[in-house]
Amino acid sequence: MTEPSLQLLRPEQLDANGLVVTNPANGSQVATVRRYDTDALTRIIDAAEAARHGWAARTAKQRSDILRAWYDLIIAHTEDLARLMTLESGKPLDEARGEVKYGAAFIEWFAEEARRAYGEVIPTHAEGKRIVTLRQPVGTCAAITPWNFPLAMITRKVGPALAAGCSIIVKPAEMTPLSALALEALAQEAGIPHDLFRVAPAVKSSDAGDLFCTHRAVRKISFTGSTAVGKVIMAKAAGQVKRLSLELGGNAPFIVFDDADLDRAVEGAIASRYRNAGQTCVCANRFLVQDGIYDAFVEKLAARVGAMTVGDGVANPSAMGPLVSHREAARVAGLVAQAQAQGARPVGELADVPQGGAFHAPMVLADVTTDMDIAHEEIFGPVAPVIRFSDEAEALRIANDTPYGLAAYFYTADAARQWRVMEALECGMVGVNDGLISTEVAPFGGVKESGFGREGSSHGLADYMTIKYCLLGGL
Ligand code: NAD
Repeated sequence: MTEPSLQLLRPEQLDANGLVVTNPANGSQVATVRRYDTDALTRIIDAAEAARHGWAARTAKQRSDILRAWYDLIIAHTEDLARLMTLESGKPLDEARGEVKYGAAFIEWFAEEARRAYGEVIPTHAEGKRIVTLRQPVGTCAAITPWNFPLAMITRKVGPALAAGCSIIVKPAEMTPLSALALEALAQEAGIPHDLFRVAPAVKSSDAGDLFCTHRAVRKISFTGSTAVGKVIMAKAAGQVKRLSLELGGNAPFIVFDDADLDRAVEGAIASRYRNAGQTCVCANRFLVQDGIYDAFVEKLAARVGAMTVGDGVANPSAMGPLVSHREAARVAGLVAQAQAQGARPVGELADVPQGGAFHAPMVLADVTTDMDIAHEEIFGPVAPVIRFSDEAEALRIANDTPYGLAAYFYTADAARQWRVMEALECGMVGVNDGLISTEVAPFGGVKESGFGREGSSHGLADYMTIKYCLLGGL
C-alpha cells in the first residue's frame, strides 16, 4: 500500500477481489474494497438492531461525548481524508478539505443537539390527568448515499441517527466508498460500537435497497440520490410503512434581476454552478437573467469561466477537477451538443482540459430557451445555460415550472422584491444575493419531486426520533 491516505482504512475493509475504486483524473486503480451480499448485509442489520438498545440506554451526554471524540478525529485527519476523497471522486484537494470540515461540522452539531432532544409537558385537558410527550429514537436506520459528496452525505445522516440513539447502516455509492469507510474506521477509534454504525458497500445496490425496504428491523431509510431511484425506494418501503427521508435531484434556478449587483451575481454563479465541477444537487442549474443585464452578465461570467484552470485535483488543489466518471463526462457533452443543435450559443474561450481523464471544460451557453432539454434536465456538470426573461412574473413562472423543488437563488437590490420572490419560489431552500447556502445549522431539503425530510439544524435530529404521547391518569 503506497498511498498514505489509505492507511486510514482497516485491513478488513479491503478485499483484493472486491469493488474496484478508480481515480477519475487518470483512470488508475486507488483501492479494492470489501462488498456485502444480501446474507452478509442481513447479519449486519441484525447486529445493528441488537446494538441499538444499549446505545439508546446511555445518557445523552455520553452519546454526545463520543460523537465529539469522532468529530475531533475527523478534523485531526483532514489532510488524509481530503486526499482520499480527491482520489476517489476527482474533487480538487481544496474543495475536499472544505468538505471534510463541512461534513465534520454535522457531527459536532449533532453531538450538541443530542442533549436537547426535549419532550413536552402539555397543559392537561382534564382533572387528575397529565399529558407528556417523549421523544425516542426511531430504531435501526439504513442510509444510501451518492458519490458527489462522499463524506458529508454520510455525516449528515449518521450524526443525527447516533445522537438520537439509533443504529445505522450506510450503503455508500459504488464509485466513492473510501471516504465512508475511513469515517467508519475513525468512528470505531472514537469509541462508537462497531455494530452500531456500519458502512457496507454492496455487491448489488438494488439488492441492498430491497433488503433495507423489507427487513423488519429497519425502521427508517434515508436516501440521497436521484429522483428516479428515490421513487423506487419510496414504493418498496411502503410495504412496511417505513419512515423515509428523501434528498433527491434538483433543477435550481438562479435569477438575476436588472437591479442586481453584477459582480456579486457573477461570483455567486461561479461558486454555485462550478463548485465540484457542477456535480452538486443544490447548484444553480438554470440562469434566468433579465433583459437589461443579460448581455453584461453573460460576458462577465464567460470571462471568469474561460480563465478557470482544469486539472488533476491532487496536483492542482484549486483547479476544477474531472467529473466522477467518463460516463458522466460523455452524458454532459451529449446534453451540450443537443442544446447547441437546438440553438444555444457557447460564449467565450474554453479552458484547456487534460487528456485521458473524465474532464469537461467549464462553459457558458447563451440564448437558451425554455423549450430546450438542457433547461429541464439536471445537468450535473460545469455548464451554465442562460435564459432571458423580461419581468418578475415571467421569471417566477419559469423558475417554478419544474417537477423539482430543492434550491433557488436570486439577486436583486429591491428589499420588497426579496420578500416577494423568496415567498413565491417553490423550493426547500433559497439563497438571496448569495450562491452558497449549505450549513449544518440550517435545514437542508426539498419539496415536490426533490423529496422530503430535512438534514442539519434541530429538524435534522427530529427526523430520527418519534414522538410518544403518554397520558397519566388517576393523579
Ligand atoms: P443514484 O440515485 O444513481 O445513486 C444514489 C445511491 O443509490 C447510490 O449509492 C447508488 O448505488 C444507489 N442505488 C442506485 N440504484 C439503486 C436501487 N435500485 N436501490 C437502492 N439503491 C440504489 O444517484 P447518483 O447518480 O449517485 O447521485 C446524483 C443524484 O443525487 C443527483 O440527482 C443529485 O441531485 C442527487 N443528490 C441529491 C442531494 C440532496 O441532498 N437532495 C445531495 C446529493 C445528490
